[in-house]
Amino acid sequence: MITVDAQRLLGRIRELGAIGRDSEGRLIRLAASDTDRLGRDLLVGWLRQAGLDVAIDRIGNIFGIWQGPNNAGQAPLLIGSHIDTVIDAGIYDGCYGVLAGLEVIETLKASGFSPPRPVAVAAFTNEEGVRYTPDMMGSLVHAGGIGFETVLAAVGTDGSVLGQELARIGYAGDKEPGFLKPHAYLELHIEQGPVLEREGVPIGAVENLQGISWQRITIDGVANHAGTTPMSMRSDAGHAAARVITFLHDRAKASNTPTVATVGTMRFEPNAINVIPSQAVFTVDLRDPDEQRLQAEEAALAACLEQLAAAEGVTISVEVLARFEPVIFDIRIVELIEAAAKTRGLGVKRMTSGAGHDAQMMARIAPAAMIFVPSAGGISHNPREHTEDAELVAGANILLDVVTELAK
Ligand SMILES: [Zn+2]
Repeated sequence: MITVDAQRLLGRIRELGAIGRDSEGRLIRLAASDTDRLGRDLLVGWLRQAGLDVAIDRIGNIFGIWQGPNNAGQAPLLIGSHIDTVIDAGIYDGCYGVLAGLEVIETLKASGFSPPRPVAVAAFTNEEGVRYTPDMMGSLVHAGGIGFETVLAAVGTDGSVLGQELARIGYAGDKEPGFLKPHAYLELHIEQGPVLEREGVPIGAVENLQGISWQRITIDGVANHAGTTPMSMRSDAGHAAARVITFLHDRAKASNTPTVATVGTMRFEPNAINVIPSQAVFTVDLRDPDEQRLQAEEAALAACLEQLAAAEGVTISVEVLARFEPVIFDIRIVELIEAAAKTRGLGVKRMTSGAGHDAQMMARIAPAAMIFVPSAGGISHNPREHTEDAELVAGANILLDVVTELAK
């Protein structure tokens, strides 16, 4: 059984993780920024060193393609993730998947394996969506979910225009987005959650990805004196909002399903200690891997709001901010991941991805699945993000085995 070169993989993860540090040592490689360019240059250098054909499309997605000798016309097997980061990021999110993809290809090349189809690794532009929206942009464009002209015109949080920034850093490529039609898509990623660590399982075979429903809710009541207004005569937007939080939390907790519900932001007007709130504006984040259940949760929330409006004497309006249906990954690939883990004597668990990933976009155009490895403490998007070296190497070896099977 061949294995990846652990030191080469781990060394590259650290080397890329050192790129884009600010004066306080924080890792920041926002999409199409100067530090993103430095990270991209390093990656492209490694792709070329490995003898891969480098292709860059119009929205800056980078592909390293191992064509192989006798497979002209075959659809490539694609391994991907991203190398852009959030602000004050850890070094593993995204980068691990891209560098493991490269490592797998180099290992296969060195082993004398003759791939019946090309194998390619991709780094998708702006997965994180910190500087430009939407997130998972590069893979969404590749999958045909949004036009590249639209996203090239995206204006960043700093007023920059994505298309101009990509040209400035030298990554406005000439390939048409979507030019590479994958036979299948694989993504290796840190879990970014606590489940694998808590259960002591080194490999996650990700079978689906949660659907997401984001709403902004505005409750209008009447501002009045906190001392003189009897409890029975109030239209208290704050109290109504609190009841929504409790409703969502209690319902999700009691449901015995994977449903999760979060109110992460809230603002009161006039926001004073001695005034009954006239308005509460807050967001709801609902997630579930099952579309019908997600719809049922949305309906339950709507019914709760209607009841509250009557009971509390307030008016309520709802705005949908984002809505993604759950993604079901390819069962055949999920089974290959499980089989590979068992062959290597590693524990494996089928699981749901709680976060969004490029794989959810690629699943629109090709059979796709993900492999997870544990995240210490479930921490991610944070400099304390950590996965043990042995776990990183184990995940890359599973990727190697699954790629070998799928390339056949
Ligand atoms: Zn990621």
